[in-house]
Amino acid sequence: MRTGGKRIYINGYFYRIHKVFRDKGYFCCSKAGNAGCKARGHLVLGSSPPKYKITHHHNHPEEHNEKIVLDFMNQLKVVCKSGVNMTVKEIYEDVARIHPEGAKLKTFNMLRTTLYEWKKQDN
Ligand SMILES: [Zn+2]
Repeated sequence: MRTGGKRIYINGYFYRIHKVFRDKGYFCCSKAGNAGCKARGHLVLGSSPPKYKITHHHNHPEEHNEKIVLDFMNQLKVVCKSGVNMTVKEIYEDVARIHPEGAKLKTFNMLRTTLYEWKKQDN
């Protein structure tokens, strides 16, 4: 699923940058569409640590788990596509050791099909 715009993560929430003007990126909550969340703001592009301002409150809880799952999945994807000589089960167990939180949220059985897909594309 892709609706365009760069996805960013700040303090437990995901945002989507919808406009860039001069040195600022304007974003709104990733749940603005379906959940009608009004939280939005802007950040100074290239600032480190990032300088940002967020206005309006979220109408839903933090997406902390989603971030954990995203990191876990990204790592699995990288290893699956690396062409490493391991089964998807071994890859999963290896990455799960580094991302135990992610493994709790996404079990091997839940990801099996996805992992095989990623591995297959490489061969
Ligand atoms: Zn929100």
